[in-house]
Amino acid sequence: MPSRSVDRIIHAITTREGAGFLVHRPFPTPELDHFDPFLLLDEMGPVDLGPGEAKGAPDHPHRGFETVTYMLSGSMEHRDSHGNAGKLGPGDVQWMTAGSGVIHSEMPEETFAKRGGRMHGFQLWVNLPRRDKMMTPRYQEVAGAKIPSAATADGKVSVRVLAGEALGAKAIIDTRTPILYLDATIASGAKFTQPVPSDFNVFAYVVEGKGSFGSDARPAGDEDLILFAQDGDSISVEASSREPLRVLLIGGAPLSEPVARYGPFVMNTRRELIEAVEDFESGRFGEIPAAT
Ligand code: MN
Repeated sequence: MPSRSVDRIIHAITTREGAGFLVHRPFPTPELDHFDPFLLLDEMGPVDLGPGEAKGAPDHPHRGFETVTYMLSGSMEHRDSHGNAGKLGPGDVQWMTAGSGVIHSEMPEETFAKRGGRMHGFQLWVNLPRRDKMMTPRYQEVAGAKIPSAATADGKVSVRVLAGEALGAKAIIDTRTPILYLDATIASGAKFTQPVPSDFNVFAYVVEGKGSFGSDARPAGDEDLILFAQDGDSISVEASSREPLRVLLIGGAPLSEPVARYGPFVMNTRRELIEAVEDFESGRFGEIPAAT
């Protein structure tokens, strides 16, 4: 099982999203537009918010891909044009397949917003293959306690399995194309090796701590995105900080289809993008029902 080397390491840029909340964004940036099949990764915070300071993303559309929200701390609530609504707290995952189109809002949960507190979470955009871009939207919402997890016998490596399979634990979230999404915590000095299909594009993103990555033991830390080369069928990560290393490990089978993107729409052709904008502007995405 040859271990993959590291192709490159990209430090996230810091920017503001939605109504002005802070995000660390490893891509898309001028340095990396996308990493097939992944279109975006945003780390929201971590940030300690005072009462009334939390901001969100008011009503906006999506078409042609999936948004995956994973909260580590804080609380968000969402509402959409299909009448869905829900709350996401620490450890919870929302895997939303926008498909043909949704309009939704992603806002701090009311009580959390009033009180303030630590906000930390991730949003990943997963592209849909051409055949699924106009599918009926669907939601998979999984409470943190229901996310499968596993640990090595010595307890030095633990994983939460959002998608795919690791250390014998299998995800309960269904993906349209093969995807691996792990949240791994590795004790100081310990090493984690994860098998990956040889055709997958795989990256790691450091949540906390420091580590050495890949067969070439490349050092990386907070807010670093590590892109692995496609030269093996496993990836290895060793924790090099005194504290545990926490890292997201994400991979997927590339779609190898043209990507036409414009803000919240990601299609295959420019013509489909124009259709998306026209459908949105003429109200064909629907609207979010008024709160009752
Ligand atoms: Mn959104």
